[in-house]
Amino acid sequence: MEAKEHVKCLIIGSGPAGYTAAIYAARADMKPVLYQGMQPGGQLTETTDVDNFPGYPEGINGTAMMVDLENQAKRFDTDVRTGWVTGVDFSGEKKLVEIEEGKHVVSADCVIISTGASAKWLGLESETRLRLNGGGVSACAVCDGFFYRGQEVAVVGAGDSACEEASYLAKLCTKVHMLVRRSEMRASKAMQHRVMGMDNIEIHWNTETVDILGAEQVEGAKVRNNQTGEESVLPVTGFFLAIGHKPNTDIFAGQVDLDEEGYIIAARPGSSYTNVEGVFWSGDACDKTYRQAITAAGTGCMAALDAERWLAQKGIH
Ligand code: NDP
Repeated sequence: MEAKEHVKCLIIGSGPAGYTAAIYAARADMKPVLYQGMQPGGQLTETTDVDNFPGYPEGINGTAMMVDLENQAKRFDTDVRTGWVTGVDFSGEKKLVEIEEGKHVVSADCVIISTGASAKWLGLESETRLRLNGGGVSACAVCDGFFYRGQEVAVVGAGDSACEEASYLAKLCTKVHMLVRRSEMRASKAMQHRVMGMDNIEIHWNTETVDILGAEQVEGAKVRNNQTGEESVLPVTGFFLAIGHKPNTDIFAGQVDLDEEGYIIAARPGSSYTNVEGVFWSGDACDKTYRQAITAAGTGCMAALDAERWLAQKGIH
């Protein structure tokens, strides 16, 4: 890989983590260049209203919020570019980043990774349609559960996330149906006890989703017991997926330490350092616990501040 351009600070990704890193880096005169990636604006552009990001008393549309963040980063002269990163070489002092299979190669003194994570989906046509039109399919109970208070909802999954989502929703909703595809849960015993101890959570074992009903809004879920073949319709108005996330870190395999699920391993507690000098993490590419816009933005800020101090220590101006 041969660089055609050198920059001081390169940010990969355009969710709340990437743009916040850009705002801080630009104000610190690091002249950041930000590549937006395949999905400019990140996961928030797939949600409808964001009601839990401080500073928006009336809530805000997810896409509109990301446009605000982009404009704020540009106001301080962040060089925001379309294009996605297809490879990196972090072995040398200058970090090499390849854009779109060799269309361009940039070298950077420091790199901030803000590539995020993607929720996994079942892949049903109805799921995609009702997710993209804000019709009641979501992968985040903390973000969207509030809209279904006093209603009946379903949660798919049997891991810790599914249990957490189900117990969160059970406090808001009249009833929560947990759809578990096997006869046991993967979740920790403590989490299983929590959901089993809540009166308004019904666990449907050996149950798979056949279809989500409704043209514009979720009106029900057709499910099948995979032992008996029996099908039934659950009268739900919200449908939540909690079948795992995948961090968008494939391009960093072999370059930065990743855990067995592909999340970046933070090299030092309480900081955004990775195991590679000059490469910093932010957002959901590393954080599998909180996964909120506000926490992603917070770690974006940390990454820019860490990068600024690291550059100063190295005498790079
Ligand atoms: P997991 O990978 O642990 O669980 C995913 C669940 O989704 C599994 O039960 C799996 O079923 C189910 N699933 C996967 N695909 C499908 C499908 N197509 N249809 C139906 N069900 C499906 O993901 P989580 O997000 O729950 O957790 C990720 C990590 O984060 C874990 O390490 C977890 O412990 C951790 N975590 C910890 C929390 C805490 O401690 N408070 C909270 C949240 C997460 P099956 O079991 O049959 O494979």
